[in-house]
Parts: sequence; C-alpha cells; structure tokens
Amino acid sequence: MRCLECGSAVLWTFTEAGKRLAVDAAPDVDGNTAVYRDGTGTWRSRRPTDELPVMGWEKLHRPHVATCAGPRARPGAAPSLPSGVADMAAYRRRNRSRP
Ligand SMILES: [Zn+2]
Repeated sequence: MRCLECGSAVLWTFTEAGKRLAVDAAPDVDGNTAVYRDGTGTWRSRRPTDELPVMGWEKLHRPHVATCAGPRARPGAAPSLPSGVADMAAYRRRNRSRP
C-alpha cells in the first residue's frame, strides 16, 4: 500500500480499538507500535506495555502520521499546488527519506 499523501509505503493496520492505523511499512526499532499479522492475514497493531511487551511475532513500526511528508499531516503547510506543477520540496523530502 502507498500513502495517498506522500507516496511512502505504508501498512494499514487495525488497532485493538478496531480503528484503522497506517504505519510505515518498514519496521523501525524506535517505533512505538507493535504490528503483527493475525490468522486471517489482517495486520494488527497495538501499543506495547510493561505487562504486554513486544512479542516475538511482532515488529515495532512507527505510525505513519509521525513520518508522513504529505500535506494533510502538516497543518499550516502551503496549499496544494495546481496540477501539473511539480512540488520540488516534496520531491526532495521524499528522496531524502530514501537511502
Ligand atoms: Zn504519507
């Protein structure tokens, strides 16, 4: 899956509360969200706690809202450019985030 705002690869997960949460597709040891795939192939996410730390079948990811470079995640950012106009700032941001 790709984020519609910034084009990054994301995983759409369901939280324990049943809400949809997009996390970065690549695991991140600094993430605060434990992600695993349940028996039906659905991605699930939860916040690890002292009582329930990250399990062997879970990987830590960062919620995508924390890393999204898209316009909606940046309140106060410049309005969208007219179609056909390249957003070079976003282009550079995207490239910088990829090694
Ligand atoms: Zn995004």
